[in-house]
Amino acid sequence: MKIYFIILLLSLTSCYTVHKWFAPAPSNEFIPFVNDFERRWGHKITTPIYFINQSKLNKNDKGVVGACIEFLGIIKEIQIVKEEWDKLPYDTREIVIFHELSHCELRIWNHIDDRKKSGCPVSIMTTYLMNPWELIYCYEPNREYYLNEIFNGVVQWL
Ligand SMILES: [Zn+2]
Repeated sequence: MKIYFIILLLSLTSCYTVHKWFAPAPSNEFIPFVNDFERRWGHKITTPIYFINQSKLNKNDKGVVGACIEFLGIIKEIQIVKEEWDKLPYDTREIVIFHELSHCELRIWNHIDDRKKSGCPVSIMTTYLMNPWELIYCYEPNREYYLNEIFNGVVQWL
């Protein structure tokens, strides 16, 4: 089983193991982001997205927001930690869903932590979530760039 991480709130680098399976109902909260991703990509996504509770995580993974989990290269799902999601602003939620879909659907497995001269991340495929400054000065004025570059191959060759 491969577990690919994802976006972390804090300085976390560890992976977590899924101990138990559960099949919660997909949440309507993801629909606007999924629809936007599909529109930009031109394909339907096949990866289900579920909320999980923080109690499902190992202690070491406190602060993890989401994960694209792949089993045997066939079965995939995205797990979003409900307690962390509830604390996130809209922009960050958008980034988290696009980031995880980039792992699971576009099969972009690497994280890209390079910065532009401005100090802004070159990609939403960063290891850590953008902080409030980055949301205001990097993400909001360049939202179209960030949401499109994952489809344009930028992150692959950086
Ligand atoms: Zn990631």
